[in-house]
Amino acid sequence: MGSIFAINTLARDDLKVLIPYDAPAYPNMIRLADNENPFDFPVEVKNKIFQTIVPQDFNRYPDTNAFKLREKLSSYTGVAPENIMVGNGSDELILTVMLAFGAGAAFAVATPTFSMYGIHGRIALSRELKVPRLEDFSLDVKSLIRAAAKPEVKIVVICNPNSPTGNAAPLDVIEEILVNTNAVVVVDEAYGEFGGETGAPLLKNYPNLVILRTFSKALSMAGMRVGYLLARGPVMTELLKTKPPYNVNSFSQAAARAVLDNMPLFQERVKRILAEREHLFSALAGLPGIEVFPTETNFILFRTVLPSKMVYDGLLERGVLIRYLDDPALSRCLRVTVGTERENGVFLKALGDILKT
Ligand SMILES: *Cc1c(COP(=O)(O)O)cnc(C)c1O
Repeated sequence: MGSIFAINTLARDDLKVLIPYDAPAYPNMIRLADNENPFDFPVEVKNKIFQTIVPQDFNRYPDTNAFKLREKLSSYTGVAPENIMVGNGSDELILTVMLAFGAGAAFAVATPTFSMYGIHGRIALSRELKVPRLEDFSLDVKSLIRAAAKPEVKIVVICNPNSPTGNAAPLDVIEEILVNTNAVVVVDEAYGEFGGETGAPLLKNYPNLVILRTFSKALSMAGMRVGYLLARGPVMTELLKTKPPYNVNSFSQAAARAVLDNMPLFQERVKRILAEREHLFSALAGLPGIEVFPTETNFILFRTVLPSKMVYDGLLERGVLIRYLDDPALSRCLRVTVGTERENGVFLKALGDILKT
């Protein structure tokens, strides 16, 4: 109304320092930064997806509750369909959980870990309470239980296996936390297909458990954006209130169903990734100046003698994109996704060259 438009008077004060999530495109790079599956989506499954698409999938809204997909996920997970929610990537489900339980309160999270818990927590007006992992990156169970006991803490988040460290907590450790808190305990199993134990059997005894899974990593569907969560009835009732309607499009729902109908093809790819991981792990461990951390995922955390920014930039110059980690708890560490044999070879050669210079 005549005065000067000033975004500062409108923007949320609490988000002034928030750095939006970014994943630079870098065309023509070898991409070992995002823990995607390096293999092409099986062509026979692609064809099946195209065959199941019907005209209404374009002009009509998708099934808001992904009924058919949840039926198939029920067979896959052994969890009843009403205890499954599908999301636009598990990322969206993190926000759904934060909005349902964390808003105006706080959440505790075992760090260092996946950055989206912090970002979605902030967006949902939930205060983040970081609970650092121990020296070997295992969970500090006592501190997590103590944090969870604070009246303002409504959610405890554990990434298991953890990104970017790669290690997994055994089920009895997860259970020890569940036994000692009534907060919602979110266990993110984005990398569950590569190793570690699933917490799904614990749902039977712990109504406060939420398990997050995704089609993005082991199941080759990062571009389709499909994730899901497992939760008991009372928790699910609250989550349904904050889930956006029609959140997963018809095409992605069909694609996820086709993946579940053809699991052996994807399990075979997981095996190949695990075999490549062993090669990459030994080769990295053999490089002078590199310390490698054990992993139960499709990525490897390693520490270099050189500043990690220098190594990261050197790899970029040589056409390889890995993950730079800007975290004091992970000084001189970088994270590399297990790629194809050829990609891993290019990465190892480039890293070897950088370490020599
Ligand atoms: C990749 C990843 C996700 C996100 O998965 P989407 O389903 O693609 O949103 C969630 N949690 C962790 C720990 C991840 O690494």
